[in-house]
Amino acid sequence: MRPFRYERPADAAAAVSLLRTNDGARAIAGGTNLVDLMKLGVAAPDVVVDVSRLPLDSVDRLGSGGVRIGTNVRNSDLAAHAHIRGSYPVLARALLSAASPQLRNLATTGGNLLQRTRCVYFQDVTTPCNKREPGTGCSAIGGYTRYHAVFGHSSDCIATHPSDMAVALAALDATVIVLGPDGERRIPVTRFHRLPEKRPELDTVLERDELVVAVELPPPVPGAVSTYRKVRDRASFAFAIVSVAAQLSVDDDGVVTDARIACGGVAHKPWRAGRAEEQIIGRVATVASFAGAADAELAAATPVEGTEFKVPLLRRTIIAVLRDLAAEAAGDRAVGTREEGPR
Ligand code: SF4
Repeated sequence: MRPFRYERPADAAAAVSLLRTNDGARAIAGGTNLVDLMKLGVAAPDVVVDVSRLPLDSVDRLGSGGVRIGTNVRNSDLAAHAHIRGSYPVLARALLSAASPQLRNLATTGGNLLQRTRCVYFQDVTTPCNKREPGTGCSAIGGYTRYHAVFGHSSDCIATHPSDMAVALAALDATVIVLGPDGERRIPVTRFHRLPEKRPELDTVLERDELVVAVELPPPVPGAVSTYRKVRDRASFAFAIVSVAAQLSVDDDGVVTDARIACGGVAHKPWRAGRAEEQIIGRVATVASFAGAADAELAAATPVEGTEFKVPLLRRTIIAVLRDLAAEAAGDRAVGTREEGPR
């Protein structure tokens, strides 16, 4: 590991100042990703700015009815928070599906958003990787792609974002609050992470001298039901092959009045499934309708060699999640199954 300077700023503004005045500075909180990358030689910051002791570790109800989650709130604490569990179950479930209890006890909200891809070539400094070293090429194209993208990738990078939490936040229309030299700015989480295009080294729109200080959730939607389902190679401590976060509102006539769907493990960012949402809003909640919605979304999929299997897998997962949510929303009322069900 390369030597680095360690700084522990007194407040968030001092942290931003350190980031602004040191080109090679990186913020650290739980360290569950950055320390690994430093050990692997993937990251080599000159200055490590430890923000873990800043008082940004509370979950606060807002006057609007929403919630502000401090960047230093630990993943395990957020998952166990009574209001999050009760009003935003999709978020609590996504958090609990991630990593291991030990890692969740250390990992923070801000760090979770900013974690980097687990593409094996990104983590192996002996192989070309445009994300780690721009202009060197992409070893994953034509290589091992089980965890790679089917949406929104480029000829420069086909990596996926590894966070479960961020997928739930995308379905919830959360907002990321960042502090920079000129004050705070608010970024919808769906625009916080970016697609690789020609600059795969940039995971997010966060500037080098900005610090994530909080995430805000909008007020819970009355009567909505939500959940997160993650398909992975083993039951715990594994990244998503595909995942689906969804929130559904269904009226007394069985008509879907609101739907928010986001997918993980399939793109360089949490993939908001807007085409699928459009297909089901205003229609009776049936498995046939959900299948049509999944097909509409997946019409935009462009799997690469080795990720083709994700298309039917994601289709089945979207249908199953929507079917289960519709059943939960309906209570005793049966959800129509006129056509095919999930296979
Ligand atoms: Fe690097 Fe992206 Fe290619 Fe993986 S997919 S090797 S992260 S450029």
